Amino acid sequence: MKAIDVDHLSFSYENGNKALNDISFDIEPGKIVGLLGPNGSGKSTLLNIISGVLRYEIGSVEVFGKEVKTYRRHEIARVISVVSQEFSPLFAFTVKDIVWMGRMPYSSVFHSSTKEEIDLVDRWMEKLEIKRLERRNIKAISGGERQRTVIARAFVQEPRLLLLDEFTAHLDIGHRADLIGVIKRKNEEENTTVLGAFHDVNVAAQMCDGIILLKEGEIVAMGNVFEVITEKNVSQVYNTDVVISYHPTCGVPQVMLKI
Ligand code: ADP
Ligand code: MG
Repeated sequence: MKAIDVDHLSFSYENGNKALNDISFDIEPGKIVGLLGPNGSGKSTLLNIISGVLRYEIGSVEVFGKEVKTYRRHEIARVISVVSQEFSPLFAFTVKDIVWMGRMPYSSVFHSSTKEEIDLVDRWMEKLEIKRLERRNIKAISGGERQRTVIARAFVQEPRLLLLDEFTAHLDIGHRADLIGVIKRKNEEENTTVLGAFHDVNVAAQMCDGIILLKEGEIVAMGNVFEVITEKNVSQVYNTDVVISYHPTCGVPQVMLKI
């Protein structure tokens, strides 16, 4: 069974904007796959369709063998966690409240939190270095701290599939490296499948097993990092001349601007 199986998916917004055109791909369980492409190429739209936020009509989208449209809300939240680019809650929740929201798909009126759940929440808050902020208002912390809070919430949800939308945007290089490590470890230890939209081609090259390159809502190239991150593909898709070099320690392609 595939973790994700997308077949001939097309999607237009209500105002007629065509965001995706005839997209087909699949992802094996346990893989880390990166979505790359310039602003407006359809990365967030695709992630929002897979997570069930946007409703599609043309084509099929299966997550672990089940059409996304047919999942119930609680059911899908036990399978998929989403870390989006922007996060601005309406209310003055604390950091701890937000992380606990990750357990909502498992809660019911008949059950109060177990010792295991309390440990799980504490463990992730510690790993992501937000434990000392637990009583702070989510609006009164830095962008990077907020990002780490949202990631802790996603992890306590114990997903089989993690969807990331430009999750490194607000992070300094130290926290970015930490987080890449945390996600890779979760992937290795628990076989969590990861699909992420990346702003930064070089981060994607270091993190991902496979890459899907999008332009104007279509797949331009798909394969492993060596097949997709080439001078020709990157220059064409991002409309700028680049040179590719290879990372001195891990050997993956890295892109540099030719300016
Ligand atoms: P990316 O995440 O790659 O930057 P998006 O998926 O956000 O791209 O956008 C894909 C296309 O859909 C763009 O042309 C964008 O302008 C359009 N789009 C995104 N969100 C909306 C929306 N809510 N309503 C109408 N058009 C949208
Ligand atoms: Mg986006």
